[in-house]
Amino acid sequence: MLRNDMLEQWDRENFFHPSTHLAQFARGEAPERVVKGGEGCFIEDRDGNRFLDAFAGLYCVNVGYGRSEIAEAIAEQARELAYYHAYVGHGTEASITLSKMVLDRAPDHMSKVYFGLGGSDANETNVKLIWYYNNILGRPEKKKIISRWRGYHGSGLVTGSLTGLHLFHNKFDLPLDRILHTEPAYFYRRPDPEMDAAAYVAHCVAELEAMIEREGADTIAAFIGEPVMGTGGIVPPPEGYWAAIQAVLEEHDILLIADEVVTGFGRLGSMFGSDHYGLKPDLITIAKGLTSAYAPLSGSIVSEKMWAVLEQGTDENGPIGHGWTYSAHPIGAAAGVANLKLVDDLGLVKNAGEVGGYFTAAMADALAGHAHVGEVRGEGMLCAVELVEDKSARRFYDPVGKVAGAVVAEMGKQGVIARAMPQGDIIGFAPPLCLTREEADRVVAATAQAVKVALG
Ligand code: PMP
Repeated sequence: MLRNDMLEQWDRENFFHPSTHLAQFARGEAPERVVKGGEGCFIEDRDGNRFLDAFAGLYCVNVGYGRSEIAEAIAEQARELAYYHAYVGHGTEASITLSKMVLDRAPDHMSKVYFGLGGSDANETNVKLIWYYNNILGRPEKKKIISRWRGYHGSGLVTGSLTGLHLFHNKFDLPLDRILHTEPAYFYRRPDPEMDAAAYVAHCVAELEAMIEREGADTIAAFIGEPVMGTGGIVPPPEGYWAAIQAVLEEHDILLIADEVVTGFGRLGSMFGSDHYGLKPDLITIAKGLTSAYAPLSGSIVSEKMWAVLEQGTDENGPIGHGWTYSAHPIGAAAGVANLKLVDDLGLVKNAGEVGGYFTAAMADALAGHAHVGEVRGEGMLCAVELVEDKSARRFYDPVGKVAGAVVAEMGKQGVIARAMPQGDIIGFAPPLCLTREEADRVVAATAQAVKVALG
């Protein structure tokens, strides 16, 4: 085994880490952690420290770490056939089985699933399919996509543009044109504190309608949103939001992409967020919980309505000019099959609803009345604590983000991993769906203690 100091030196000299402060890391000022093992909700680093991972990696290890059922399925697939492509009608038993399992779980009006590798490329596929669709229908001008400020949809060129967070745009010359951003469904940050949920939903709808009016409905192809906003702050929508937004989209013949990379396969206590909130999307983005991140795999689930047009397009133009070498990779597909079986066998969708609800309620209880806790919110196995400098004015800390960073660092000392979300002082939680009540209690106690240490 390599010595720790050697590994750290190689790491700082050679490894370009994503979403990392590059200069601080190279100088040795930012922490590095070499993760070695994991079991259930816990990970272990190379020095033998154990952490309760209340963010499931990046909200993805839904079944928990160390599941031998998935490891064995991967090994068996690798031995039998590590790779074959899926072009021109090729498949494997794993990829075909997984497509059936995905469609069996998806809302009834969905028709087919295209497999990619990660959430970003799946959303890239979605945008291409929408442009293709409107070209086939003879509407070449109908191409713009509306996303929401604070939405997260990936970090590629188009998908980084869809993402509504400044960090992902600044200095990258994004967003690209054709991508627009509207109001997020962020009730706590409503423009007027006097607004109730209905008034705020009406405000979001009015903003959307004004944008459609300004741009022209004949130029707008689709709206993309996460059923519960994730990286932008873990923000469940106010009551009635999705029904009202969908009505506007239908009126203007604008497609809906439900980005379920985080919410798909049980995180909200329903198989899909679309079921949870009564959405009828034209495309659903899936990744993370599809394989619980045991292997990279994502997907775009396509509705019957879109599929009929895509088929028609290929009759006119030949095979669809879209494919990745690793689309429906057999190892990812084998991981997906074993993972979705495990989600069923362990009753994890139900557990996410029950223990998730308990977790958020316990968090709200533990932090009730704290002068700097503006809001505790959550849905299923997603929870957030928003910290503010001044509670009555809902005023952000200045500089933004430092306080949440301090709380999360303090939690780390107590052996619990949470995440400081970007563009705010928001502590995010997205534990594995197998979290127990005892583990939830431990996360709540560590959070309350860390808030006390950092903020008094
Ligand atoms: N969509 C959503 C809702 C996500 O949360 C993420 C990743 N956090 C993505 C897309 C992008 O996925 P990936 O990082 O796998 O490209």
